[in-house]
Amino acid sequence: MVGAPGAGKGTQASRLAERLGLPHVASGDLFRSHMRDQTPLGRKAARYIERGELVPDELTVKLVEDRLARPDAREGAILDGFPRTRPQAQALDALLARRDGRVAGALFVDVERERLLRRLAGRWICRASEEHVYHEITRPPATPGRCDIDGAELYQREDDRPETVRARLDKQLPPMYEVVDYYTDRDVMTAVDGDRDVDEVTEALFRAITQPAS
Ligand code: AMP
Repeated sequence: MVGAPGAGKGTQASRLAERLGLPHVASGDLFRSHMRDQTPLGRKAARYIERGELVPDELTVKLVEDRLARPDAREGAILDGFPRTRPQAQALDALLARRDGRVAGALFVDVERERLLRRLAGRWICRASEEHVYHEITRPPATPGRCDIDGAELYQREDDRPETVRARLDKQLPPMYEVVDYYTDRDVMTAVDGDRDVDEVTEALFRAITQPAS
């Protein structure tokens, strides 16, 4: 899944993964878990993440490669937030080729920049599960500050602060478009309009991955 921060790709990737019975592998979630556990990789990555920058490719590829080596990903995975640069896309092809695999499809959740800024600024996430995401305006929880699903506290990500949000988009959008081009050139890319109702976007993505255009 390819998409800008705030495009809703995390929510969509988690829905698709559940429907397809595949693990949802989100590089951002993996980094945050390393940061919480204060692993050496987590400490190195934190410096970049706090500034809204991309973590260097070498660290990121290693992170995802280790995750894909786990048994639950043997039949495949929904990758979310990776690859985010052209060298990462090339590294992914190489590591999948070593296991006789390939990128079966690339899905681009397309949302325009102004809309991304608004979405990120109002985002609240559940402390118990990063899959439970709310928005002040478009998806408020029933009780302010509490998750509808498990009642846990909601928080705003450090890198969702307005200054960092702009930096994230400035730094991350150009390489993301290179990834879109990379998969377009290989005829595996489907772009879906992400500026719609969340269920409509899920249906469009599900159709794209289960009935790829020939
Ligand atoms: P996300 O939760 O996907 O927005 O990721 C949070 C942060 O983790 C990003 O702003 C980057 O700093 C870092 N990150 C996540 N995935 C990648 C990636 N594929 N390449 C480089 N940095 C990444």
